[in-house]
Amino acid sequence: MAAKEDYYELLGVDRSATGDQIKKAYRKLAVKYHPDKNPDDPSAEERFKKIGEAYEILMDENKRAAYDRYGHAAFEGGGMGGGRSTAGADPFDIFREVFGGGGGGGGGGIFEEFFGGGARGRDASGRQRGSDLRYDLQITLEEAAAGCEKALELEKLVSCKTCNGSGVGAGGKMVNCRTCGGAGQVISSRGFFQVQQTCPDCRGAGQTISQPCKTCNGDGRTKETSRIKLRIPAGINEGSRLRSSGNGDAGVRGGPAGDLYVVIHIKEHPIFEREEEDLYCEVPVSFGKAALGGELVVPTLEGKASIKIPAGTQSGTTFRLRAKGIQDLSTGRKGDLHVRVQVEVPTKLSSEQKEQIEQFSDSVGEENSPLHESFFEKAKKFFK
Ligand SMILES: [Zn+2]
Ligand SMILES: [Zn+2]
Repeated sequence: MAAKEDYYELLGVDRSATGDQIKKAYRKLAVKYHPDKNPDDPSAEERFKKIGEAYEILMDENKRAAYDRYGHAAFEGGGMGGGRSTAGADPFDIFREVFGGGGGGGGGGIFEEFFGGGARGRDASGRQRGSDLRYDLQITLEEAAAGCEKALELEKLVSCKTCNGSGVGAGGKMVNCRTCGGAGQVISSRGFFQVQQTCPDCRGAGQTISQPCKTCNGDGRTKETSRIKLRIPAGINEGSRLRSSGNGDAGVRGGPAGDLYVVIHIKEHPIFEREEEDLYCEVPVSFGKAALGGELVVPTLEGKASIKIPAGTQSGTTFRLRAKGIQDLSTGRKGDLHVRVQVEVPTKLSSEQKEQIEQFSDSVGEENSPLHESFFEKAKKFFK
């Protein structure tokens, strides 16, 4: 069996998420992947079970703590009752092994959330880490569907070329900070208490520079416009965050760089509306074609397609084009395209055409239309 997916990633929540946030995330996903909603998609069932399991563990304080410490190993060997799903009596147990893995597993890593605090600040030698940066990127629906590569241009702090990021100027060197004696911390007394604080002069580094670099004033960094290439995976959603590791601001004096987070925004499309992995559009159809049936040319993201509409097609009828939607980021399964037809009433008629329609109307009569009968049945009492 494939490696188990991370519970937090499964629910799409931060490791520091509150119970409420976990509950919200679970509810949304449970609705989306509920087998009733995806009768012909076995991977949805699998997903549904996985998020149920993740939810069960993360909502239980003790289990969550164990998972945070030991990962999935915490629950192996039946120690915690085998991860009974919260979805109640689970009729899909038999499918468990059959569909194991379910095509998931890929792609997950790129969607790392912002992790708060932690070991951010400094590396082992006390050098300050660069800031994380955020970049809002607009792409088209076509780019989101097919995936694309983008070159981002952004201003950020990069390692100073004059001093190679050390911050040390010509003839200068690193010397122990005089304020803290190299400890990086100073202790001050407040009444009975002794308070330990980061040294304000060396900002915790323990060392200062005798001759700071003139280009960067000893910071080791300068501002520059940088170009960063980014691959956007096919099927990406509005609001997704991609992490570009190490592409944030450079660290102070050679410290580790921060990360760049790219937030995806998808432009409105003139024809298609997207809902999850499905696409929707409206296509006009002439009265004649709707009445007689025939071939109808419809747009898809990959170009034109042709569908057959039956005789007597009503305005508002929706036709489904399988797998002409957008692919699911984790399963690769493609959504559908729903084409809603709008029957058009002709305008700008010549007098000859008007006459023809009058004749036609007379011959058909008002009763020969599907809505007419039921409507008048319901409306009878209003037309007494
Ligand atoms: Zn410099
Ligand atoms: Zn100091």
